[in-house]
Amino acid sequence: MRITAPVLVEARRPMEMLELDLDEPGPGEVRVRMTASGVCHSCLHTADGSHSGLPMPIVLGDEGSGIVDAVGPGCRTLSPGDHVILSWAPSCGKCRPCRQGYPALCLNEAPWGRTADGTTRFHHRGQDVYHYGPSTYAPSIVVPETAAVSIRKDFPLDLAALIGCSVTTGFGAVVNTARVKAGQSVAILGCGGIGLNAVQGATVAGAHPIIGIDVVDSKLDFARQFGATHTINSRKEDMVGRVMDLTGHGVDACIVAVGSTSAMEQGLRILAKRGVEVVIGLAATGDSLSVDPLVLVQGEHRIKGSFYGSGDPAVEFPKMIELAMAGKLRIEDLITHRYDLDQADEAFRALAAGEQARGLIVF
Ligand SMILES: [Zn+2]
Ligand SMILES: [Zn+2]
Repeated sequence: MRITAPVLVEARRPMEMLELDLDEPGPGEVRVRMTASGVCHSCLHTADGSHSGLPMPIVLGDEGSGIVDAVGPGCRTLSPGDHVILSWAPSCGKCRPCRQGYPALCLNEAPWGRTADGTTRFHHRGQDVYHYGPSTYAPSIVVPETAAVSIRKDFPLDLAALIGCSVTTGFGAVVNTARVKAGQSVAILGCGGIGLNAVQGATVAGAHPIIGIDVVDSKLDFARQFGATHTINSRKEDMVGRVMDLTGHGVDACIVAVGSTSAMEQGLRILAKRGVEVVIGLAATGDSLSVDPLVLVQGEHRIKGSFYGSGDPAVEFPKMIELAMAGKLRIEDLITHRYDLDQADEAFRALAAGEQARGLIVF
């Protein structure tokens, strides 16, 4: 199949709309005709050069939804016509983390930029073009069947795209990783696409107060719309002082949804005794974090990473759909900008400038 997709040829350069050859789905693979793709910060990290090491040229996009239109030999879980949300964590199903129910932590993950067998499904004039996970910026993609989770067909498929990364990651960090209970206090550092879904997770969990923290006032406005009871602009206000005033003792959970190590260090300073800091934001390659070990011990603090919301996408995605259909999770309101496929660079610019809650590329 011949498709036209935005291709990142080199970091810090506009993407090029190139004609690509897309392979037929092989054994255990499916082809998905894309409906929509969210614009995620992890892809921006690659486009702006803060994450190095990915092979190029590459098709970006880790958050999307579409309809299966062909299946390869031996495909057992999906059929043409199925509505699916793409997962960026295909899994082997056999290794220890997979068997424990954490396929996002699969030990047999595909090498960066490639499928599990080391090859690519995109080619440009005979040259391999690499994959950023499912590469949801392409209008049609070929992925392992474990990277496509079927969902009910009566949910708007374009909105479902966001469940593939930001919704599940932010919500799961609060509910699955921090295991926030009703009445516990939560702070969310970084109120972008993922942070807003952490706010929603805290709301569903019954947390109080829910404190949204950012340096951009427009993002704090979004945080209040999605359930934050208080907001702090940490550039203008004394963040630690205000959190202590609001809670009396610090927060039970601090979710850091920004890749800044100084935010991660500040987050540790607002924890209550036995509080947990959950780090979701991706720091730049080679960054390191400084922790006061004495405070860590005396406060019985915990620091946890959270990858894909600490859950199994095959379980979490349908759960997010049910919560959205029940009105407990707001997805449509997250989408502040819609783009055509050839506007992916503009979508990144707006994301970097903090103008979006979430941008959505619609095919
Ligand atoms: Zn993402
Ligand atoms: Zn595995």
